[in-house]
Amino acid sequence: MILETAIQKYLERNGYERISLKAVLFDMDGVLYDSMKNHAGAWYKTICGLGIDCTPEEFYMHEGRTGAGTIDILFRRMYGRPATEEEKQKVYQMKAENFNAMAKPECMPGAYRLLCQVKAAGLQPVLVTGSGQVSLIDRLNRSFPGIFDSRYMVTAFDVKLGKPHPEPYLMGLSKYGIRPDEAFVVENAPLGVEAGSAAGIFTVAVNTGPLPDNVLLDAGADYLLSSMTKLSEEFPAIMQAMQETKRKK
Ligand code: MG
Repeated sequence: MILETAIQKYLERNGYERISLKAVLFDMDGVLYDSMKNHAGAWYKTICGLGIDCTPEEFYMHEGRTGAGTIDILFRRMYGRPATEEEKQKVYQMKAENFNAMAKPECMPGAYRLLCQVKAAGLQPVLVTGSGQVSLIDRLNRSFPGIFDSRYMVTAFDVKLGKPHPEPYLMGLSKYGIRPDEAFVVENAPLGVEAGSAAGIFTVAVNTGPLPDNVLLDAGADYLLSSMTKLSEEFPAIMQAMQETKRKK
């Protein structure tokens, strides 16, 4: 995929003149932390344990959805009825316990380097996650010192609808006071890509998990790379292409 062509298509689709970068919106799981193996594993263990048919891969497809939303879909498929509030809470609690019992996820290779490049370029890194761990901000500051500003973070505590709805990314833009054509999104999950694209933001997919590339492209990714390290390598070229590419009349 040629970068200039990807930008041109994005500008045409959204009716923007150009991208004037001010911020980069980062998803967390599978982007900043190599945590999706743990999440998918914890879901699989929990749901299988309840006697509900599932595969480990499908939890990569649900990534970004609220926990309650995922549980509801599984219950409807298995039992032909929605999950009750009590079931949603109980199952989500079990999933959280299974997740917490696993080894702490590592930072994603290349993530800190990219975050430093973004900062050095005078752009604001904005976190947009559906995750709601209380210790999140402390942990981010330990993993990525000097990068994030708690005023510009969107977490499970802010979000009502969750991805694939554009709400979380629109909220990220409004917290920093910018428009969709003043940022780009970094996402690893199909529903997250859908959310970024529906918010009208140029969305870069990094395929850090087991899903085929076309799942991310079909979800609406404007540009696709295989890792955060690759994105870090391409970052200067991306900045330049965004500065130079204007919508063709
Ligand atoms: Mg993710």
